[in-house]
Amino acid sequence: MATVFEQAINNGTVLVRDFIKSTQQNDVAGLYAGVNPAQLNWLELAWMNWYSWVGNTTLATGIMSFVMHEVVYFGRCLPWMIIDYMGWFKQYKLQADKVPSAKQQWECTKEVLKTHFSVELPQIYLFHPMAVAVGMKTWEVPFPSFFGQIVPQVMLFFFMEDFWHYTVHRIMHHRALYKHVHKVHHTYSAPFGLAAEYAHPIEVLVLGLGTVGGPLLWCYLSGGNMHLITMYTWICCRLFQAVDAHSGYDFPWSLNHWLPIWAGAEHHDYHHEKFNECFSSSLRVWDWLLGTDQKYHAYRKAQAEAKTAKKAQ
Ligand SMILES: [Zn+2]
Ligand SMILES: [Zn+2]
Repeated sequence: MATVFEQAINNGTVLVRDFIKSTQQNDVAGLYAGVNPAQLNWLELAWMNWYSWVGNTTLATGIMSFVMHEVVYFGRCLPWMIIDYMGWFKQYKLQADKVPSAKQQWECTKEVLKTHFSVELPQIYLFHPMAVAVGMKTWEVPFPSFFGQIVPQVMLFFFMEDFWHYTVHRIMHHRALYKHVHKVHHTYSAPFGLAAEYAHPIEVLVLGLGTVGGPLLWCYLSGGNMHLITMYTWICCRLFQAVDAHSGYDFPWSLNHWLPIWAGAEHHDYHHEKFNECFSSSLRVWDWLLGTDQKYHAYRKAQAEAKTAKKAQ
């Protein structure tokens, strides 16, 4: 018995040692030997200095990715929290009578932070080895062209993620899965920004695959035609999209009013209110094609008619 136990300990020690060794092999000394700093912009310079300073590409990407995720997520939630607290823009609140209290927001923050550190941190840390495995450029400078490569790839990732999200989200509404997994995300029938990532760990993992898996697949299929900066641009866009879709506000200037394919809060808020339709994340394509937006359209139409009738009185 003791030998089996000792063997397991030995195996574990070897695994950990090999992992540390593999990260140490990513020593950046000499990586930038052929790079001329005079030809780099400030961001590329900062990027190069960061990787050189940390001296370990896995660790450098891991720290940078986690910090970026926290800053962008909570940074984007903050204006919505202030708007809710101050009671501004009430006329644009989709469920006007359901403004989240400060206590609700704080409880939600604590839960989201727990998931970030327990579920997302290990995943984010493991991203670098996966990215390298599919040929993604990480520490390299200069960056690819913004309009020539970053923008078209980010647009592609929106379509890929949206398809994955629609499919998995619809499956999660099956009775067997709903009560064990997806019910957590539906705690708030009137969502607010912070609730975007309030979900069961399994859901965070599976839906997160749509955000991370698309770029990894693209990178693999295109033979490494992608840079980590494109991944960061995509993650920022996706976080803004997710937080805004849960904000609970639809403004006349919201993106969905001048880009009809865009779902926005007006679409996803309905999903939280009624949870029978509107399964997409960013776009309205799949709900429209597969007919899972008919009750939603009827509901919004009735709302608009009631509003007009009230005005006429
Ligand atoms: Zn949601
Ligand atoms: Zn749902």
